[in-house]
Amino acid sequence: MRNDPKLLKAFLREKQQSHLYRATRISESAQQPRMHIGGKPYLTFCSNDYLGLANHPTIIQSFQQASNKYGVGSGAAHLINGHSIEHQKLEEELAEFTGRERALLFSTGYMANLGVVNALMERGDIIFADRLNHASLVDAGLLSNAKMQRYPHNDLSRLDNLYSKNTATNTMILSDGVFSMDGDVAEVKALAKIAKQHQAWLIIDDAHGFATLGKTGAGLLEQQGLSQEDVPILMATLGKGIGTAGAFIAGSNELIEYLIQTARTYIFTTAMPPAIAAATRTSLKLVQQENWRRDKLNALIKQFKQGAKQLGITLMPSDTAIQPIMIGSSELAVSLSQKLQQKGILLTAIRPPTVPNNTARLRVTFSASHSEDDVAFLLDCLQICHIKSS
Ligand SMILES: *Cc1c(COP(=O)(O)O)cnc(C)c1O
Repeated sequence: MRNDPKLLKAFLREKQQSHLYRATRISESAQQPRMHIGGKPYLTFCSNDYLGLANHPTIIQSFQQASNKYGVGSGAAHLINGHSIEHQKLEEELAEFTGRERALLFSTGYMANLGVVNALMERGDIIFADRLNHASLVDAGLLSNAKMQRYPHNDLSRLDNLYSKNTATNTMILSDGVFSMDGDVAEVKALAKIAKQHQAWLIIDDAHGFATLGKTGAGLLEQQGLSQEDVPILMATLGKGIGTAGAFIAGSNELIEYLIQTARTYIFTTAMPPAIAAATRTSLKLVQQENWRRDKLNALIKQFKQGAKQLGITLMPSDTAIQPIMIGSSELAVSLSQKLQQKGILLTAIRPPTVPNNTARLRVTFSASHSEDDVAFLLDCLQICHIKSS
């Protein structure tokens, strides 16, 4: 984009005309199903706070107590003097929880993905990536200068095929665990097998499975019984099901030591506030000890899927808290989202380039803080607004 105000204006006009314009909404309340946004009350179905922990009193208390003790800012990168005892303990607890030797904190999931891929891959290497991977994995691959080969979503015979022509010695397979805009899951067992066969790195990004899947909430890899041997690199975020902020990479002791020496998004950035680490430790305990949130979330998902079926709405093949309704055109998705807003429901339209062209959708997400009545109200509104999947 050249430095010419006319060009900026034309760009923005074009985005508006194609119904792809993006704008923030201003929230005046905590993250929870009932929120005040732009001065109006809404029942929301669009957050990633799947267990309803973003505004949990015990976690807030830990955050307050830790900020009294440690202050607000960490003041420095982890390798200078920003790494507090709270960060250290959180890393140890994350390693234990996920059944990995070590874990390393990053300030965001985006940075974790950029950091780990760029530490391991360079020009001449090859990255095999699912076509529906999250933007942060795409950017991580592009930045590394490795060659990226994207295979059709979950099409592992195509992945096998690409490997049969591969000549690179250092390869990596990159995949979301739970796909963020579709809600379905990767075939992680098969991916682990292919990675082992080719001595490839395998990264599973479990941003949406961590806290919500698995017997104790350790995520998709716990649910599928995959160890560090099977999946050498696990990435997960703390700002979704865990309800706080940040992310981590978990794997072998050597992998983590290597990342500490080389991952630029770990080295050259300020550590997350210690109080966030302390609050996250409390959240982890609740996630591990209290199964009822996952049980309730699953009951709400089931209720929604059954209700949608009765309304003749075909949902996408997802069993997770992400239940998108495929619409197709961005214009229609935006207008349906606005209709729902008039009924008091906030459910955002997800449009390209977040999703492929002509696959705009209403991405419904559930939280353990929703009630059965909330889901029933959503279903009523979908019916009143004549919402059908494409
Ligand atoms: C949200 C998300 C990220 C980024 O995590 P942040 O902590 O929000 O930066 C990475 N990967 C996936 C699959 C995500 O959904």
